[in-house]
Amino acid sequence: MPVLRVALDLPLHRLFEYRADDASTADVGLRVRVPFGRGEKIGVIVEVVAEGEWPLDQLKPAGSVLRDAAPLPADFFELCRFASAYYQAPLGEVVLQALPKGLKQLDPPARRAGRAAKPPRPLPPPALTAEQATAIDAVDIEGGYSAHLLFGVTGSGKTEVYLRLVDRCLAAGQQVLLLVPEINLTPQLEERVSARFPETRVVSLHSELAEAARERHWRAAASGEAAIVLGTRLAIFTPMPRLGLIIVDEEHDASFKQQDGMRYSARDVAVVRARQNAIPVLLGSATPSLETWANARGGRYGLLTLRERANREATLPAVDLVDTRKMVLREGVSPPLADAIRVRLERGEQSLVFLNRRGYAPVLACPACGWVSRCKRCAANLVLHLADRRLRCHHCGFEHGVPRACPTCGNQDIHPFGRGTQRLEAWLGEAFPEARILRVDRDSVKSRKQWESVLERIHGGEADILVGTQMLAKGHDFPKLTLVGVLGADSALFAADWRAPERLFAQLMQVAGRAGRAELKGEVLIQTQYPDHPLFASLVGHDYEGFAAGQLKEREQAGFPPYAFQAVLRAEAPEMAAAIDFLTAAAALPEASGQNDVAIYDPVPMRMARLANLERGQLLVESYSRPALQAFLPRWRAAIEALKAPSRLRWHLEVDPLEL
Ligand code: ADP
Ligand code: ZN
Ligand code: ZN
Repeated sequence: MPVLRVALDLPLHRLFEYRADDASTADVGLRVRVPFGRGEKIGVIVEVVAEGEWPLDQLKPAGSVLRDAAPLPADFFELCRFASAYYQAPLGEVVLQALPKGLKQLDPPARRAGRAAKPPRPLPPPALTAEQATAIDAVDIEGGYSAHLLFGVTGSGKTEVYLRLVDRCLAAGQQVLLLVPEINLTPQLEERVSARFPETRVVSLHSELAEAARERHWRAAASGEAAIVLGTRLAIFTPMPRLGLIIVDEEHDASFKQQDGMRYSARDVAVVRARQNAIPVLLGSATPSLETWANARGGRYGLLTLRERANREATLPAVDLVDTRKMVLREGVSPPLADAIRVRLERGEQSLVFLNRRGYAPVLACPACGWVSRCKRCAANLVLHLADRRLRCHHCGFEHGVPRACPTCGNQDIHPFGRGTQRLEAWLGEAFPEARILRVDRDSVKSRKQWESVLERIHGGEADILVGTQMLAKGHDFPKLTLVGVLGADSALFAADWRAPERLFAQLMQVAGRAGRAELKGEVLIQTQYPDHPLFASLVGHDYEGFAAGQLKEREQAGFPPYAFQAVLRAEAPEMAAAIDFLTAAAALPEASGQNDVAIYDPVPMRMARLANLERGQLLVESYSRPALQAFLPRWRAAIEALKAPSRLRWHLEVDPLEL
């Protein structure tokens, strides 16, 4: 009698066995109802075997096998097995997280068929630049596995390269998976793709889709009916029977990293998937992650470079530093920046003032007694939001009204310290009363609809000065935007996080890339008190390569990734002592002792030690050998699972952490 080995969404590193009288290996990849505890669950059949690990008479009979969707294919399981082993995540969790909700529910709601979108007007493709043509020809669609970095400055026409490669794949009868960081921020891309391929079914997959649409799109991808799938990180696990190419746009973006549940990097999984499926993968960026850059420099990935902007009239903006040490700033704005804004107003052009901090001020404080607005649940300040007179924690969401007087000493004269986008907006309104000012951050733009309407207003020339956070930095063409002013960049220069310079550089390159995308020449003014900092010198010279070389040298000397491989064990509990005790016990396990190739550091509180009433500690493990780390982790993880932890303690293991 056959035995089903079934993946269930449970934090256990094993499959579950059930008897099934008439099952066959053709049922592998189908969903099945199985009894579990007092109820039932939906699982996925991973194997059908004659004899399982458990005695047959101890197995319960499986319920019905569900045949409303095609079986999950072998390459899907291969990818899930890799992710499970690499990220130390239970296979059941990996398999089930990849399915849309409706396929995991015992009683899924009835789904109506979706309406077909109207085909947009096709757009003729532009003639390629020489650099674009070279890049496209370097990617052999039918030549098996290859990985390439498409390194192109903002506006160099990377998207056009993607579209041409998509075209080749479609012509070969294959499917394409195009991953983007945040689909909300790129509604233009979806339109551009649909407009280029009006005959092709294009579906998107991201977390903001309604469940019904997500399931419909997933099914269209899994059946092969949709030839183009445009998705965020979660789409990397979508089964696609004819997958021929994976593209990861803005590959350096941190949103490809999943930060809870199974903590994986969709970019890294994309490369593995391409290798498993023997297809090409293309990673695109103007500021590649240093990991990818090192891979390209070291010859593991091909390097395709676009040095020129595609639109011949559009040149790279001039980047200048404003040394603010000897200047009187008004609400953080220097006289040269204010003058430059005034010039743009007179010319009828747009300016963007970039400050990556939302709210009115990062903290409210009492000068009499030293009180500051702290979140009582986190190791963080409450941010003042004057628009609705609230104090808000940007980490846990806790909020309350603004007190009229100091809660400790009663002083009525309490002040906001520092500045965020709201305060900047208010001052710009006073300084330039004739200007139309538009603030763009997560407080003013909460939905995709609002974002689309903001983009329309900017394009329609309805704003003279944009004030915004990094939301504004990503991949948009604003033809009338000729000035970008950057405030508050210095705070990231000396951050404790050694990845901070990499992030700052990418962010500033991106926001600078907004200026002068069309015929009008762009100018970027970066305010700083450290004009001699090498990071700024690289920015002024548009020199990513020089910056990356310097950073990689530092990392090599310090023994940081990509020259070392890391994993981190984190624990959170109501008391820090409990978290640290647990981590100490994990470090003291016999499985962790006597390691030659793997260094195990001391447990320490996390940089943000308290979040939403939980104290958090972490323990770093590191090796110069990836195989050594990968051999160590499963043994150690199994031993940690057997440790007795206090009931309110939670822990997880993260491989290749981006933040420590
Ligand atoms: P990137 O993604 O590299 O920032 P885009 O693909 O958005 O750049 O291209 C920037 C601009 O250049 C777009 O307006 C695009 O339509 C245009 N463009 C791209 N390729 C060409 C080309 N070969 N000739 C003329 N314009 C082009
Ligand atoms: Zn006080
Ligand atoms: Zn908080």
